[in-house]
Order: sequence, then C-alpha cells, then structure tokens
Amino acid sequence: MTIGFRIGAATDVGAQRDINQDSYSVASGIAVVADGMGGHRGGEVASSLAAQEMVSRFAQPDLALLVESVEYANRRILDAAAANPLLHGMGTTVVALGLIEVPDGVSLGAINVGDSRMYRLTGVVLEQLTEDHSLVEALVREGRLTPEQAEVHPQRNIVTRALGVVEHVEVDSFHFIPKLGDRYLLCSDGLFNEVGAQEIATILATYEDPQETADALVVAANAGGGRDNITTVVVDIVDADKSEMPAAPAALASNASIEAASPSAPDLSDDAVALDTPHPVEEPATGEKQRWSWRR
Ligand code: MN
Repeated sequence: MTIGFRIGAATDVGAQRDINQDSYSVASGIAVVADGMGGHRGGEVASSLAAQEMVSRFAQPDLALLVESVEYANRRILDAAAANPLLHGMGTTVVALGLIEVPDGVSLGAINVGDSRMYRLTGVVLEQLTEDHSLVEALVREGRLTPEQAEVHPQRNIVTRALGVVEHVEVDSFHFIPKLGDRYLLCSDGLFNEVGAQEIATILATYEDPQETADALVVAANAGGGRDNITTVVVDIVDADKSEMPAAPAALASNASIEAASPSAPDLSDDAVALDTPHPVEEPATGEKQRWSWRR
C-alpha cells in the first residue's frame, strides 16, 4: 500500500470583495492555502508567492524542509516588497499539509502561520488542528473573550503572525499519522467566519468527492454572507495504489449546490448535529487543539 493524497480545491472572491487575495497551490504530495493582505495587488502577490514557493521547494519531503520553505517564502515576500513600493507592507498567512518521508515509511507534516486553518475529519468527528495566530485567539486564551465573542469580534481579522512582516517568522509545525479515510481541510478565514464548525463537519461528511466537497464549502460560505475571500482545499488520505491520484483540482463550479449531494454519500439527516462546546485536548505532540464531535 502507498499512502497518497486525493485533493479537491476551490477559491472564490466571495460576495462582497472586489479582488481575491487568497491563493492555493497543490501537487501530488502537498497542499497549501495562503490568505494575503496589503494594498494594491500586495495581498494577491504575497499569497501566491507563498503558495507557489511552498510547493516548488517541496522536492525532498521532510518536516524540516516544510518549515524551511516557509522561511524561504517569507524572504521572497520581504524582498519583493522592498523592490516595489506598491507592494510595501504586503503579507500573508500560510497553512500547508505534506506527505513526508520518515524512517518507517511516509507520514504527514504540516505548518501554520497566521489565521488560516487546518481541520481533520475522522468518521464524523471534526478536529481543528491548528491554532490561530490572531488577536482574538490571544484574547480568548487570556480569558478576556469567549470563543462566541471572538467569532463576531470586529477585530477578528487581525493576525499576530504572518509572512512578509519580520525577518524570522515563527512557524508552528505538526506531525500527523496518515490514516486511510481521514479527510483534511485547509481553509482561509473566509470559510470559518461564515460557516460554523457543525456545518463544516456536515459538508465534509456528506460529499465523497474532494472537489465537490471543496466547492460545496465555498457555496456555504457565500450563503453565509461571503464577506471575505474563500479558499478550501480538501485532502483525502488514500491508497495511491488503488486510486487515481492526485485528483486534479477543477475550476470552481460556481453553481454547485449544497443539496446536490453525491448518491453514495451517507444519509446524515437523522443526526442531531448539536456540537459539544469546543474544549482543549491535551495532545501537544500532534498539535491538536480543539475537538468537536457530533451528538446523536
Ligand atoms: Mn481572509
């Protein structure tokens, strides 16, 4: 058996913004989402530099290289901003998941800087794997805001870490055990600020095809208001010997419908998807922070 990725990806400007400053990039063993910020075209340039650099440098996969790639992308963004006054002050988040080589086979490595997120769906349990580097997340940690207040806080878009800001960027890195059937989601805040964890879990569990899933998440975010750019990358852990991989990300189907679930999708309509209150999980080795589960 060979562990591989089957990937679906979508990005959309959303319902209210004029330009899309999010970027994603995927290849056979890596997926990256970046959410850019900055005037003129700065945000677009920063996020696309980050996404492309991360993928193009991921030739000999290991976790240290993934972290190095973030540092290299940071350098590229700082240099590009220094060379062009119009790009001054641009920055970007980055979150990435890659297949890495370990002594006994392959494993999963991940990195995060900023407030884009990575989740994992195992069965019907959704876990948030990354911690936001944002002002509101810091205030929640200090007990000064509740998670509910953070969700609607006017300054929830302020990040406390990003690429393109300082010479040496602090990178969170993670190691996960690949399990067949696990589904990972990388996304920008334009998804989870519009779509609750319960609905994200439902969509991830409903669609079989990763591209349909990525598209359906974008549709849900637009239905929720679409106030920001939306990017979703769905990575299924598959046996590469048995499946075509990677699934090439298709163009966004803008008329995709949430109701048009795949016929093979499990019927979840009987589930009362009341979510547990998010609570911390003491698993620092895997970086897992919050866990939601469905209650029947
Ligand atoms: Mn955003």
